[in-house]
Parts: sequence; structure tokens; C-alpha cells
Amino acid sequence: MPRSYVAEARRKKVAPKKERIRPVIERLAVEHADAKIALTFRSPLELLVSVMLSAQTTDVNVNRVTEKLFVKYRKPEDYLAVPVEELEQDIFATGFYRQKAKSLRGTMTMLIEQFDGEVPEAFDDLLKLPGVARKTANVVSAERGDAQGIVVDTHVRRLSQRLGFTKQEDPVKVERDLMRLVPREDWARFPHLMIWHGRRICDARKPRCEECPLALDLCPSSRI
Ligand code: SF4
Repeated sequence: MPRSYVAEARRKKVAPKKERIRPVIERLAVEHADAKIALTFRSPLELLVSVMLSAQTTDVNVNRVTEKLFVKYRKPEDYLAVPVEELEQDIFATGFYRQKAKSLRGTMTMLIEQFDGEVPEAFDDLLKLPGVARKTANVVSAERGDAQGIVVDTHVRRLSQRLGFTKQEDPVKVERDLMRLVPREDWARFPHLMIWHGRRICDARKPRCEECPLALDLCPSSRI
């Protein structure tokens, strides 16, 4: 079970979360005006593959691998045209390469057989693809301008707990709380703001509250 940050949100008295959510988003949008997805892609297919490869590794690592991968594999058929061992080798550096190669080939088969070789737009169709869980489908939908939910990764979970937006631990339940709270038009950018704030300022072990624009009046976990 990952560490919980729920208890930290008892440090400081702040307004109810419904009153804080918009100012939190606005201040973080100013602080992290460059916050966006860190994966490099040029098409829905490359986006889908990048997100599938990003499980359990860094975006930097994925970009390093896909720079060459996307030259060699341009369409779904390309992933099936080589022996599975070759694909495994080509994605080896992202880790869990056997499982990822299996998911990629399963997904490409389904894209060809059921979706005319295109990445489907409907959220429920994305979830049918082998190896595509809710988080991957959320990232793909959000980047295509049609967020259906809110991506919850380790940063989003930690910051949402520290900011008192949720008391849940399970990512699905955290997402449910956030979907009730975050205005729909912000579903796509909200996780980017949380992720960049988490990386730059609200560190898991040592949050730098003295540099945080939320510390004085918007964060119940503030140490100042
Ligand atoms: S860094 Fe900011 S968001 Fe994180 S605990 Fe401190 S005040 Fe709260």
C-alpha cells in the first residue's frame, strides 16, 4: 500500500474544498504555465503506444525509446509484422517489456479487426483494448480534447490528499471524488498541474511549502 497523505491535511484551517478548487487551479496554472503531457507523439496511435509504454517507468525513458520505435513502427500492422521477440527488444528499455509487447500486439490486432486500424475515440472502446486500463484511456481521451475522467497517478493522489480534496487511497475512488469537485472544463489540465507541482514543489518527502503559492491560504497541509 503506498504511503497516505490524508492525515497531513489537518495542519491548517482553510475554506471548504468547493471554495478552494478554482483558486487552486488558477494559481497553479500561473505557476506552471508550461504544464503539459511530457510524452512525445505525433498521432493518436503514437499517443496510445507511448502511454501504454509509460507504465512503471519515466516519460523521459519512454521518449528515448519511442524516438526510434516510431520510425520503425508507423501503423498497427507494423507491430504484428515482426517476431514478438523483436518488438520486445525494441521496447526493452521501458521495462516489463514482455507484458507490454503482448498488450501492444493485442491492441494492434483489435485496432485492425474492429476499428479500421484507427484509435477509437469512445472511452468505452478504448477500454476494450488489451492492456488499456482506465488511466491510459483517460490520458488518451484528455490529450484528444475529450476528457472523460481525471488521470490519477502518484502525484495526483498525493497532492489531492494533501490539499484535502479526497480522503481516499484507491485511485478509482480518488478520481470519483475529483470528478465531483473539479469543473469539467479543467479535467484535462488538472492532472498536469498536480503532476508538475508535485515534481517541482510538493515533493513526497520534503514539500517546499515556503515556495508554494498555495501555502498561505489554500492548503490544509501547509507547513508555514
Ligand atoms: S508544497 Fe504547497 S501543496 Fe504541498 S503541502 Fe506545502 S503548501 Fe501544500
